[in-house]
Amino acid sequence: MSNTRHSRGVCIFAGSFDEQLISGMDQSVKSVNSIYDAIGELATCSASDLVEAVVVDDTLIESNPKASIDALRRVDPTAVIVVASETNNHTSADANIAKNTTAMRLLSAIANVKSQPIMSNPACDIDLDEVLGISDETQLETDSSSLGDIDLVRSLMHAPINFKNTLVDLLKQQTGWSYCAFVDDNSCAPQTAKTTPLRYGHEEHGVLAAIGATSADLTRWGRWAACWLDLARRQQNLKLLAYQDELSGAWNRRFLHTCLTKELKIARDSRRHLTVMIFDIDDFKHYNDRWGHDAGDEIIKEIVKLLRTIIRKGDHVCRIGGDEFAVLFCDPEPPREPGSNHPTTIEILAKRFREQVQEAHFPKLGNEATGVLSISGGLATFPWDAMDVDTLLLKADQRLLQSKRQGKNSITIGNKE
Ligand code: GH3
Ligand code: MG
Repeated sequence: MSNTRHSRGVCIFAGSFDEQLISGMDQSVKSVNSIYDAIGELATCSASDLVEAVVVDDTLIESNPKASIDALRRVDPTAVIVVASETNNHTSADANIAKNTTAMRLLSAIANVKSQPIMSNPACDIDLDEVLGISDETQLETDSSSLGDIDLVRSLMHAPINFKNTLVDLLKQQTGWSYCAFVDDNSCAPQTAKTTPLRYGHEEHGVLAAIGATSADLTRWGRWAACWLDLARRQQNLKLLAYQDELSGAWNRRFLHTCLTKELKIARDSRRHLTVMIFDIDDFKHYNDRWGHDAGDEIIKEIVKLLRTIIRKGDHVCRIGGDEFAVLFCDPEPPREPGSNHPTTIEILAKRFREQVQEAHFPKLGNEATGVLSISGGLATFPWDAMDVDTLLLKADQRLLQSKRQGKNSITIGNKE
């Protein structure tokens, strides 16, 4: 399955780390001095030398940890992000480690993250139900004084993003423990806490830590929690299978329709515009014929990776056909330029993407193949171009065909009225 993280090459260390830790790693290592250098390394790594993990010294991201972690993730959503700190727990990182950790512990934290499903890869900390408009919080009438299994089932069905919190609340309530949490390993638990490993799916997924528990009780509740976490993980995997493209990790056509329907309603209600771009790789058959189907697959993945470095946080990339993609520009935009009715920033993003594809080096196409690939696309915007999902997509598709007819390697935008 493509939504598990494959084992691969390089580990980037951003900041200063113990020599022993670095020399104990069993993969190749690159050390950089700033978070910007780490982002640069991620963005420029080749498909044959992918980055497995980025380990960040938290003093480098003090001023805005979440934005820094988001920036790394947008460049490569599949790299594991580990933050090393003395005290802080960075919830948006994949794993937290102590600064004086050992290589063995770090490797095991990375392996642990890789064994978990990616919550929404593109969108790593995205709430899929929320994005698709399929969450139903009206069903969540919990009486917090009497949490029980039924609340876990409800949370799983209607607010899965909060599932772990509900599980912890329920544990505290049922057991009376003064502290209870799921943490990556024993070193992340308070010193006075007892811990028990959480084992499911033939893997260990961190530990359950508690203060005030007997060892026997903790083991019993740990097994109980592991069963629920396994169920949540399976449920999430099924949802990802339904909405994600297996090859590229982009969303699929089903996601596009569901999400666009929801976003159009929001745009209509809040009198905002909404733009969709459809694009298709030019002469893709030729690349398959010349360099082989595997190289073609690699290009599809690289195109999605490149696109993610350009679009904004709330935008979505979908693969809707063999070499055809749609981008939903949902991120609220800054105010329009005076005198213009049309969104200008999206046009700039689309143009930048086309230029970057044209200039990109796709390693699978060989050393001499820089600048050989291009895309053609079309943009359509609600409400100017269409008022409903089907017509909006049709309009963008017609403009894509217009770009093809006019000689390819271009994006047709439509009239600015
Ligand atoms: P055009 O410039 O008109 O778009 O020409 P094209 O050669 O790209 O042709 P078209 O878009 O009609 O066809 C897409 C081709 O993409 C057909 C097929 O060979 C290839 N393709 C479709 N899906 C996959 C895939 O998953 N992997 C690979 N490697 N190739 C694919
Ligand atoms: Mg094509």
